[in-house]
Amino acid sequence: MRPTSEQSCLLEALQAEVFAGMEGMNAWLGQDLDQLRRIPLGVLRRGTVRRHGVTRWIRGAHRDRLRPHEVRVIDLHPALLSPEWWPYARFVLHHELIHATGHRMHDAAFRRWESSWPSPPVEKGAEAFAKMLHMASARWWWTCEACDVKHARQRRANGRYLCRRCGHVLRDVPAQGVRA
Ligand SMILES: [Zn+2]
Ligand SMILES: [Zn+2]
Repeated sequence: MRPTSEQSCLLEALQAEVFAGMEGMNAWLGQDLDQLRRIPLGVLRRGTVRRHGVTRWIRGAHRDRLRPHEVRVIDLHPALLSPEWWPYARFVLHHELIHATGHRMHDAAFRRWESSWPSPPVEKGAEAFAKMLHMASARWWWTCEACDVKHARQRRANGRYLCRRCGHVLRDVPAQGVRA
């Protein structure tokens, strides 16, 4: 999707930081960074839960010999564009830029290249981000009032489920607030 003007500013700042990092890295020696820098950046739909970034190719791009100029856009999850997730946002953009060189698969060479970029802190990394999106996408909280435990869910429990810890019937509490 086309980014809003605020998102554009953030994407531009992110791009500048990631390319500044890449310029000093052995992993990127010999790659055409100017070409990669020209790839437009966009955002995924707000409700996207499973993907954090996507490299999209122009129609007709040959999947066995992809080239950076055949990338139509790199889309990032809009929730990455916040101070909280910024280190992970850099990591994701760097990951997508590896794809943009024509490296489609997450094979061993890809993982080695990816690991040349500093990992975000675990509590603000890929898994934490995925979990946050899952929670934010919940329509219902299946809640045990005795244990104060809640589970993010898309549908209602309708009294059919018991708390694993104490056996109370889980109650449906509508989720609201945090949107990803
Ligand atoms: Zn990937
Ligand atoms: Zn309980």
